[in-house]
Amino acid sequence: MDCRKAESMVGGYIQNTLSVDELSDFLKHIKECPSCYEELETYFIVYYAMQHLDGEKEETLNMKKLLELDLKKKEKYVHMKKIQRTIAIGIFFLIVLGLMVFFGITGLHMNNIIY
Ligand SMILES: [Zn+2]
Repeated sequence: MDCRKAESMVGGYIQNTLSVDELSDFLKHIKECPSCYEELETYFIVYYAMQHLDGEKEETLNMKKLLELDLKKKEKYVHMKKIQRTIAIGIFFLIVLGLMVFFGITGLHMNNIIY
């Protein structure tokens, strides 16, 4: 992913509208690209400040920490989703394999009856 793509996804990240794959690529880029991280941080702070206009004033430092926590949380989320997907694919193949074995055995059985 290049910086332009990453920058265009900052809003999606903050509003939680990215798909798991998009989020995964975005997080990967953010980790390796300080300038995009800074961009995200700025947006995050602005967005958070706007959401909490009436609330107590948070320190900018706290928001940086908050973003770090948010990134970790989303990283875990992506990781979990990927594991779930792997398990789902695994189960799918097991079912296919099971059906193949089942029909293989049934086919063999029928062959034995016929011949
Ligand atoms: Zn970048």
